[in-house]
Amino acid sequence: MKTTIKKYSNNFIYNIIKEDLKRNKYFSLHTRFPPEPNGYLHIGHAKSICLNFELAKLYNGYCNLRFDDTNPLKENIKYINSIINDIKWLGYTWSKKIYYSSEYFLQLYEYAKELIKKDLAYVDQLTKEQIREYRGTLTTPGKNSPYRNRNIEENLKLFEKMKKGNFNEGEACLRAKIDMSSSCMIMRDPVLYRILHTQHHQTKEKWCIYPMYDFAHCISDSIEGITHSFCTLEFQDNKLLYNWILKNISVVNHPKQYEFARLNLKYSILSKRKIQILIEKKIINNWDDPRIQTIAGLRRKGYTASSIRKFCEKIGVTKQNNLIEFSMLEYCIRNELNEKAIRTMAVLEPIKLYLYNLDDNYQEIFTVPNHPKKPELGTHEIIFTNTIYIEQEDFKEKYEKNYKRLKIGEEVRLRYAYIIKAEKIEKDKNGNIIQIICFCDLNTLGKKPTDRKNPAVIHWISKKNSFLSEFRLYEKLFNIHNPEQEKNFLSFLNPNSITIKHGFIEKKISEKIQKKITNINLFFQFERVGYFCLDVIDSKKNKLIFNRTVNLRDIWNIKKK
Ligand code: ATP
Ligand code: MG
Repeated sequence: MKTTIKKYSNNFIYNIIKEDLKRNKYFSLHTRFPPEPNGYLHIGHAKSICLNFELAKLYNGYCNLRFDDTNPLKENIKYINSIINDIKWLGYTWSKKIYYSSEYFLQLYEYAKELIKKDLAYVDQLTKEQIREYRGTLTTPGKNSPYRNRNIEENLKLFEKMKKGNFNEGEACLRAKIDMSSSCMIMRDPVLYRILHTQHHQTKEKWCIYPMYDFAHCISDSIEGITHSFCTLEFQDNKLLYNWILKNISVVNHPKQYEFARLNLKYSILSKRKIQILIEKKIINNWDDPRIQTIAGLRRKGYTASSIRKFCEKIGVTKQNNLIEFSMLEYCIRNELNEKAIRTMAVLEPIKLYLYNLDDNYQEIFTVPNHPKKPELGTHEIIFTNTIYIEQEDFKEKYEKNYKRLKIGEEVRLRYAYIIKAEKIEKDKNGNIIQIICFCDLNTLGKKPTDRKNPAVIHWISKKNSFLSEFRLYEKLFNIHNPEQEKNFLSFLNPNSITIKHGFIEKKISEKIQKKITNINLFFQFERVGYFCLDVIDSKKNKLIFNRTVNLRDIWNIKKK
């Protein structure tokens, strides 16, 4: 995999590391990516994955994959597997093994006891609502819980009871004893442990008390020897707690937390909770729906791992929150597909065209390049006969000013083949066009006409070389810039986020796909239509489905202007 060293050696985080390196020559960088297995990874996670893994690579250091699995209520083994699969697909490997915060449950429990013994934690028995009420607000200080001054012995006993399952959920919790009047809400005696009588996907029935994220995260970082713990800006305040916990327990390693801006993408929802709502309400099909920007969705839509890495490199890493243009993501895949997608023809909304001066046995085979600029990508054959399909929109029955494609009395060139002239149309009794009847000028193959103007070129597929296929065309799922910000984000859905068409691809191509010839690239440029990829989830041997990855040009921006 090509390393994207240049960009990753040019951000504020890199400068921090460089300084740290200068100060300590035995220093070796150790980062981690800590996903919570409560959903699939999305393009925002990819930003964090690329940052952590690329920096580790840059310094010959390590990057751990650690599942931050402290909330069994929301976690699932299915998510663990998808996350592992997606990170591998993105092209990254972790050092040694996969880590789980749940591996440290016993150590975390011991550290919690250490805090109790230092009189820095206590068992509280206020209800959840009371805890919230006692916490105060941004403008008013909180007040101490009546249980705050329990003695150490009693706290140890109660914490033990919590662990043994002697309490119901919500009846007790362990809190850090910090400062209920702190200007930083997070420091107002945060909860460190709660009771959940729930089976855990890793530790099964072993525990009924679970550490909170803030408690587990810093200690897990420390146990694993993490040197730099990168997270997004909203964890800025949590850093105080991160450092407070590590300072007050007997750990050797004290990692440093640094924050960077999370990725926000225009027209997109990235929050896993909101994606879950879209799935539950059947607005999208699943986590791999091509309309959402999960890694699985993007992959299914035809994005490559390298295009996603390229995108993450291009957006860079800063401390300023901003909204990234969707067209930036599309630019990255379009650029790559322009280099490698095989060019072929597909007709998405077919209309029949009959060349009356060619007899029914007429057949020619043309060998056409798979890529106009890359002979090394080979060629394929197309068949030309007297009955072909063209796109409905490439023919206009009624006169339209400036319309340059086929109309009665006018000419177009069939891509790779001849100039044809439309003479009349045949309709059924309802007035629908059955076929366009045209004359084929057999003297025009590969030649520019000298006696008349050079006509527009349209794509086509002969009936004999056609294979019925499904095409799924996607547009943005939301029709506002920042749906993530909207409470009622569901009211901003784009009703046209998917359009399904049934048309034809070249049979010769379909045969290659069906035979699963491995050296055939499954990314296509359907000439004049867009970049497409085979939908590997829903396609069957006799029913091929193609997803439009991206338009040939940035239509979105053109439309906007
Ligand atoms: P979400 O809010 O989408 O549900 P999360 O932050 O709860 O995501 P985690 O699994 O906890 O998801 O995230 C794992 C790592 O990925 C964290 O270090 C987090 O900071 C980072 N991350 C999550 N979302 C983004 C984003 N949009 N941009 C950059 N990094 C992100
Ligand atoms: Mg999270």
